[in-house]
Amino acid sequence: MPEKLSFWSSLAEHWRIARTLRGLQIHFYPEKCTGVWQCYEVCPIGCWTPDREARKAIFHDGYRCIACGACVLQCPEGAIELTV
Ligand code: SF4
Ligand code: SF4
Repeated sequence: MPEKLSFWSSLAEHWRIARTLRGLQIHFYPEKCTGVWQCYEVCPIGCWTPDREARKAIFHDGYRCIACGACVLQCPEGAIELTV
């Protein structure tokens, strides 16, 4: 039977996860980007802008990124990483 978490152990786990997420940052490799705009379409915060002439995404507002990882999962070129 799984161990039942107490309120305090649940809170401690929440803080641990929150600390980890706050330490994550987007690393964008524009040389790999082919301009498919998946990142722009999935980001819930609007951190990406398509540069349609250059066919490259532009990453901005990194301070607003909530480290949800959606852009990383959607990018077909592996041009985005979410790491410390
Ligand atoms: S990790 Fe989430 S919030 Fe951050 S840039 Fe990617 S999609 Fe946007
Ligand atoms: S999803 Fe990847 S390849 Fe597509 S525009 Fe964004 S960074 Fe570029």
